[in-house]
Amino acid sequence: MSSFTKSMFESIKQSLETQKSGNSSFRDILKTEPGNSYIVRMIPNTSNPEQTFHHYYHHGWNSSSTGQYVNCICPTTWGDKCPICSERIKLYKENTEENKKKAYDLKRKENWLVNVYVVEDPKNSDNTGTIKIVRYGKQLQKIIDEAMTGEDSDEFGPAIFDLTKSGCNLRIKVEMNEGGFPSYTSSKFLSAKAIEGMDADKIKELYDNLFELDKLFEIQTEADIVNLLKEHTDLNVKSVSVASAVAKATETKEEEAEEVNEPEEEESEEEVNEPEEKEEKEESEEVEEIDDKISDLLADLD
Ligand SMILES: [Zn+2]
Repeated sequence: MSSFTKSMFESIKQSLETQKSGNSSFRDILKTEPGNSYIVRMIPNTSNPEQTFHHYYHHGWNSSSTGQYVNCICPTTWGDKCPICSERIKLYKENTEENKKKAYDLKRKENWLVNVYVVEDPKNSDNTGTIKIVRYGKQLQKIIDEAMTGEDSDEFGPAIFDLTKSGCNLRIKVEMNEGGFPSYTSSKFLSAKAIEGMDADKIKELYDNLFELDKLFEIQTEADIVNLLKEHTDLNVKSVSVASAVAKATETKEEEAEEVNEPEEEESEEEVNEPEEKEEKEESEEVEEIDDKISDLLADLD
């Protein structure tokens, strides 16, 4: 007992604090609500520029057994085979309405993450002046892409990452579209403007305190993902070793199929008329749920 000191206890308490404010968690994602505009300045990762954005794929659906939303990162994010994508393609190839619906539910979704400095958050003023992660889909990606390399790149280009008075804020405008889903298409970069209180020291501090975007998600093994399918879908999924062998054997065919049958391209399907909006809706729900889970965890720690 004598070896357990007060300072050890302080360290333990401190480590809990560190975990709470850890780098990084879903709490660090900026929450956006329809009917509001959020002003942010994107922050470049100066030590690893290629990690300024984190681009990833994921799957999420409502469990057939619990009804709850389940999700996982799609291993195609880093170029590996994904058991869910394999199932999805198999279902899609069977070409019945029922299976196409199932394949659609397992759809692969594409998202990006970026560190931002929050200039204005109308719903939560505590966020102002802090670093948050913006998680976004194809609508915002298109606007960012235009500003970086497209038609707007003469006007913006590097200025979208510039924290000085020569830099441009991004105004994320969240609207509700006719289908009742959030839409981000009216978001835009604004003309160059200084950020109040931003100086060289502050900029350095921001650079040194970016969230590690690729650490946000727990990475699941192939076996975990197969189990997720077994537990939360009514599909007859083979065990991981078999699934893996089948995947390898049909590798070439699958890749061909993937190009042709990517569900994002099922534009003719009534249900898929507004795929992005639907996706964004699911996004917010997912964040809500994860946030709840984190609150529970934190409550246990208190
Ligand atoms: Zn996948």
